[in-house]
Amino acid sequence: MSDSKQDSVESFAELDLPNSLLKVLNEVGYERPTPIQAATIPALKNGEDVLGMAQTGTGKTAAFALPILANIDIKQRKPQALVLCPTRELALQVSEAFQAYAAGIPNFHVLPIYGGHDMRTQLRGLQRGVHVIIGTPGRLLDHLERRSLDLSALKTLVLDEADEMLRMGFNEDVEAILQKTPGDRQIALFSATMPPPIRRVADTYLKKPKVIRIESAAMTSDNIEQHYWLVAGTNKLDALTRILEVEDFDGMIIFVRTKTATVDLAEKLNARGFSAAALNGDMNQTLRQRTVDQLKNAQLDMIIATDVAARGLDVERISHVLNFDIPYDDEAYVHRIGRTGRAGRKGKAILFVAPRERRMLRSIEKTTRQKITQMELPTRIELIDKRASAFKASIASSLDNEHKTFFQRIVAEVCHENETSAEEVAAALAYLLQKDRPILPPKNKPKPEKPEKTEKPNNYESPRKERKASKDIPNLGDAMPLRDYPEIVMERFKIMVGHNDQVTPGEIVGAIANEADIDGCYIGHIKIYENHSTVDLPAGMPDELLAVLKKTRVRQRAIKLERMVKQQDGKAEKPSRSKPRAESRSKPAKTARKTSTKKKPK
Ligand code: AMP
Repeated sequence: MSDSKQDSVESFAELDLPNSLLKVLNEVGYERPTPIQAATIPALKNGEDVLGMAQTGTGKTAAFALPILANIDIKQRKPQALVLCPTRELALQVSEAFQAYAAGIPNFHVLPIYGGHDMRTQLRGLQRGVHVIIGTPGRLLDHLERRSLDLSALKTLVLDEADEMLRMGFNEDVEAILQKTPGDRQIALFSATMPPPIRRVADTYLKKPKVIRIESAAMTSDNIEQHYWLVAGTNKLDALTRILEVEDFDGMIIFVRTKTATVDLAEKLNARGFSAAALNGDMNQTLRQRTVDQLKNAQLDMIIATDVAARGLDVERISHVLNFDIPYDDEAYVHRIGRTGRAGRKGKAILFVAPRERRMLRSIEKTTRQKITQMELPTRIELIDKRASAFKASIASSLDNEHKTFFQRIVAEVCHENETSAEEVAAALAYLLQKDRPILPPKNKPKPEKPEKTEKPNNYESPRKERKASKDIPNLGDAMPLRDYPEIVMERFKIMVGHNDQVTPGEIVGAIANEADIDGCYIGHIKIYENHSTVDLPAGMPDELLAVLKKTRVRQRAIKLERMVKQQDGKAEKPSRSKPRAESRSKPAKTARKTSTKKKPK
C-alpha cells in the first residue's frame, strides 16, 4: 500500500470515527479495519481524493461508507454523497451496508436508484430528502436530465467497481454524471484493475489522489498443502462438517471474519458433535489463553478465530487451517495459513471461495506465487466409509469389556427367543447404537448456499443507448425463472401492498423469507404497482404455508397473498421457464430485514 501507517492501525477508534459508528462496528463484530479501510478512511475524512485498487472482499464498501457517514450533515436533506455502481444488485448491497452502518444515526436516509425500478417511487424518495444516493449510471443520468436529482450539495462522489462500469459500456454516462457534479466535490474511484480509460478518468477528474494499493510480498511455507473449495451446491456449514468428518486432522483453526461469527460457528459445530470453541478479541486474555491451552492439550479439536485473535498463535498440534471466510487481503491469508506447518511439520490449508471471490483467490496465488489446487467435497461414500471405520473401531475397543459374560448371556437369550443368529442380533444392536447419529447420511441433496453476488450478474442495467422505457403495466404473464436456480419452476402471486404503501422489494422479500422461512434466494421477480405487487415463488407451496403468508404483514398491512390466475380462462397460471429479462427484483438473500436482524452489513 502507498501508506505504511495502515499496518499499525489496530482499531476503528484510532481512525477518529464518531461513537455512533464505532458502536455499530462493534455490534457487527468487526475487530479492526482491513488494510484498505485503514488507508482510505483517514484520506476521505480529510477531504482528499482516493484512487483505490481494490476488489470485492477487501472491505472497500465500509472504506468509503464510514468516512461518508462521519462527514454527513444530517440537517442538510440534499444528497451529500453519490455512489455509482455497475449493477442494481451491487447498488442494493451498498445501500444496505450504508443503512446498517448508519443504524446509530437517527434520520439518516439512503436511496438506491437503478434502472428497471419504478420511477415514481424513486421520485418520491428523492422528494422526501436523502443524504446518500447509490445508483447505476443510466438511471441516475435520467434523473439528472429531468432535474429530479439535485447534486448542488454533493460533497463526495464514489465510483465503485469502475472497471466493471467501463466493461458494461457505462463510461460516457459516468463522465456525463461527473461533469454534472460540483467542482469541489471529492472523488473516490475504486477499481480492481486500471485499464487506460479508467486511468484517463482518474487523471482528468481526480485531484492529487491518494493512491491506495495492496501490495504484499508475503511468502508461504512449502510444507503447507493448499486447497480451495468453490462454494457451490452445498452451504458452507454442511461443507465444513463433511470435511471435518473425513479429513484426518489433529488440531484445526477455522477462520471467520467477525467476532460474532466465531461464536455462531463454534455453537453450530458443537451442536453437530465437534469439540470447538471461539477465540476472538472480545474475550479477555485469561479466557483466550485457556482456550489456546485447551487446543494445545487436545481438550479441544478446533478453534474458530478472527485474524486478530489468532495473531502469533503457535500450537504445533494445528495440522489444518480452514478459511471459512476468505481473508480480506493476501497478507492475512499468509498469516492465517502460517498457523499450521509449525516446527517443520506438514500442514494443510483449505480455503472456501464464493464465486464472487474468485478474483481474491487469483490475487493470493499471485502474491504467494503458489498454486492453490481446487478440491471437491468428500463424497457420500467416503463419508460412510469414514463413519463405518470409526464405528467399527469403537465396537472393537469394547470387545473386551467388564460385563462381557452378562451381555453374552443376553445375546444368547435373544438369539434363542427369536430363533436368529448372533450376527443378526449384533446388527440390530449396531443399528440402535448409531440411531441418534446415523452412519448413513440422508440421500437428499443439501440445501444450496444462498447465491452471492456473482461476477457477472445477468440483471445488469443495460447502458443508456440500448435501454427502452419501462412500462408499468400489470403483468399476469408467466412467472420468471430464478436467475441462480433456473431449474426451479415458479408461479406468480399477487399481494395487496404497493407503491401507495411505499413498499420496497427488499421489504417484501424480507417479510416472505422470515414468515415462510424460505431462503430469500428462492423468491423471484417482484413488481410493484400502485395498490398491489406481484411476486414469483416456487410452484407447489403447501397450503399451510400460503395460509401463513396470507396473513403476513408488510408496512402494517396484511399482504393477502393469492395465486394469480390468467384472465382468459380463469385457470391457475401455468408456471414457465421463459427467458429471464431485466426487471425490478431486489437482491434476494441479504435484504434489509435480514441485514438488520443479523446486523451484518454486506
Ligand atoms: P466488501 O469488500 O466491501 O464487499 O466487504 C466484504 C465483506 O467483508 C463484507 O461481508 C463485510 O461485511 C466484511 N467486512 C468489511 N470490513 C470488515 C472488517 N473490518 N472486519 C470484518 N469484516 C469486514
